Amino acid sequence: MVAASFSAGAKAELCRSFPQKHCCALAECFGILLYGNSFQASGIKLVTESREFAQTLPRLFQRAFDVEFDSFPSLEAGGKLTFQITEPEKITRIMNSFGFDPGQTTALHVNLPVVENTCCRTAFLRGAFLAGGSVTDPEKGYHLELTTTHLSVSRETEALMREVLDFSPKLALRGGAQVLYVKSSEQIADLLTYLGAPVASMGILEARLEKELNNKVNRRCNCDDANTSKVVDAAQEQLSAIRKLKKAGKLEHLPAKLQMAASAREENPASSLTELAAMMEPPISKPAMGSRMKKLVGLARELPGD
Ligand SMILES: [Zn+2]
Repeated sequence: MVAASFSAGAKAELCRSFPQKHCCALAECFGILLYGNSFQASGIKLVTESREFAQTLPRLFQRAFDVEFDSFPSLEAGGKLTFQITEPEKITRIMNSFGFDPGQTTALHVNLPVVENTCCRTAFLRGAFLAGGSVTDPEKGYHLELTTTHLSVSRETEALMREVLDFSPKLALRGGAQVLYVKSSEQIADLLTYLGAPVASMGILEARLEKELNNKVNRRCNCDDANTSKVVDAAQEQLSAIRKLKKAGKLEHLPAKLQMAASAREENPASSLTELAAMMEPPISKPAMGSRMKKLVGLARELPGD
């Protein structure tokens, strides 16, 4: 449900702008039809769950083709909203607007003259996303996809996106449908901004930033909780042992390597064993440093009064 609502939010945002030019209205409808449920000589069918999109659709078709839907839902209805055009005359007019003949047997494709202008490319992709697209809630992951049933449309849309956005979405086949998808948060954000949904785009970037910050904080906390406190406790024990040995006049009689280890610890109370080991001359291994510290602590324990 949450995933659907992020997608729904992005679509609602896109529907706030209505194509100003006739060329763009036509291109947006082209995207909608090619990515809709059915675009055939026998009928046109569009199904959506977006109320905002459902509100825009009749106006868009009016503007692009001067055509009304033969059946459309009440906007008060819940769930999926279905729009249909069944009158052959209307279908012919729509098909002709894109250079298709309803009687033709060739498959539908992205007719390039329709998306020749820069403004119309944006409109086409916006229509494709409104009718056949979805974007996952960024809290759950980064995924945006466009799904069509028309074989060559996916490939042609991919080429179009590569041209206008400087990156290529991936192509996949899912149960007979052609899927174009993007998995990078940055590319999804770019695409949403390009389509005209800067708020949704910001949502993607903010979610990513939050995730990155959380990871950083988590890493630091783990360190604090598990390791740092252990390191600090051990260093305290070593320091008090060294002080005791010094006070008892024992330290100066110990082997040079133990004295060296003791003074390194005294000068660097917060350093890890690895760091202290590296300070020795010549440098020694961490376990070797550990055993020197253990020796110092053990000797201090043998002192009377401990
Ligand atoms: Zn245009």
